[in-house]
Amino acid sequence: MADNNQATNLFSFREEARLAGSLGRTGVISTPHGEIQTPAFIPVGTKATIKGVLPESIKDLGGQAVLANAYHLYLQPGPAIVDEAGGLGSFMNWDGPTFTDSGGFQVLSLGVGFKKVIAMDTETFRSDEVIAEKKERLAHVDDDGVTFKSHLDGSMHRFTPEISMQVQHQLGADIIFAFDECTTLHNTRGYQERSLERTRLWAQRCLVEHGRLTTERSHRPYQALFGVLQGAQYEDLRRKAAKDLSNLNAEGVSFDGFGLGGALDKEKLGTIIGWMTEELPRDKPRHLLGIGEPDDLFIGVENGADTFDCVAPSRQARTSAVFTRNGRVNLSNSKYQRQFAPIDAECDCYTCSHYTAAYIAHLFRSKEMVAGTLATIHNERFIVRLVDQMRESITRGDFLEFKRDFLGRFYVGSPKRQAT
Ligand SMILES: [Zn+2]
Repeated sequence: MADNNQATNLFSFREEARLAGSLGRTGVISTPHGEIQTPAFIPVGTKATIKGVLPESIKDLGGQAVLANAYHLYLQPGPAIVDEAGGLGSFMNWDGPTFTDSGGFQVLSLGVGFKKVIAMDTETFRSDEVIAEKKERLAHVDDDGVTFKSHLDGSMHRFTPEISMQVQHQLGADIIFAFDECTTLHNTRGYQERSLERTRLWAQRCLVEHGRLTTERSHRPYQALFGVLQGAQYEDLRRKAAKDLSNLNAEGVSFDGFGLGGALDKEKLGTIIGWMTEELPRDKPRHLLGIGEPDDLFIGVENGADTFDCVAPSRQARTSAVFTRNGRVNLSNSKYQRQFAPIDAECDCYTCSHYTAAYIAHLFRSKEMVAGTLATIHNERFIVRLVDQMRESITRGDFLEFKRDFLGRFYVGSPKRQAT
């Protein structure tokens, strides 16, 4: 693949172990702010904070990197302030690797209620204007970019591929994403084809602008750009996206890695990921955007995704929904008022080492702020550790046994489909 200027040595990926008979693998991503051992779950700090949790706690619970959101930081505090602070990591006192997503998913889902993983039913209608009932669509796409209304104050804004690159260079994360159009599974086939071509043209424009900014801002640490693959549930489109974006090159600048994006049909999640990873070069990392359910993480790892992010562990924690080895439970259930034992006896997190489920259940009932903090530390540790354990099991050679044991316990008695 083409070299990205002189900076290739500042960002790299090397594959280590392979999961026999599948696309899964372990590896190491090297960034200017340190390494990420993959596969890895990346905690999400949407607005440069994992809600309720200090960056120091994220380090303690094993988080290897933090992913923030370009759309939110663009609106508040604005990329110029983050740039003046020395970039996202300096601004939030996180010295490890950082990611920002492009803002494409956020601006396009404004008011529409997109979901990342959708259980499709066969009766689903197809339409190019999928809007949740009683919701106003706040974003409009054209071939040059997206015009959208701020969810904060209703002001109008516009993102183009160039603006997304400029914003993400000012935010200064180690790994940034190309601006893409995120479609839903309900769009027509014709729309998906047109959208994929639009995303390809935008990817090319992102590479050009990224190359220009990398040269202009050579005083800043190197930022790696990942192209984002769309194509919805269509095999030919997903494979085409992977081939097209792997081959894009703008004056020697090519993508450093790839985001596996778009809405994904849960019933075919592994198949769809596999279509993409089969086509992608093995020497570049792949990030599965917005996926964090345990069964989906196993499927992602098994099919060659290297890193993952999702707001679900922290968002659920704030509603008192916590993970245990025996499934997700809710601390608002009265039976936890007298559980004078940790949330999960097998968990090694700070919360489970120091506090009982009964105490945390009390804090939630009393609406004490620290309830969300303790539950978030637990949930983030649970998911970070789960993916760490997948990595270790690939290295040991017993991934499938680990998967069977984990899913067998986690989803026992649950109507949720287990990974196959
Ligand atoms: Zn715990």
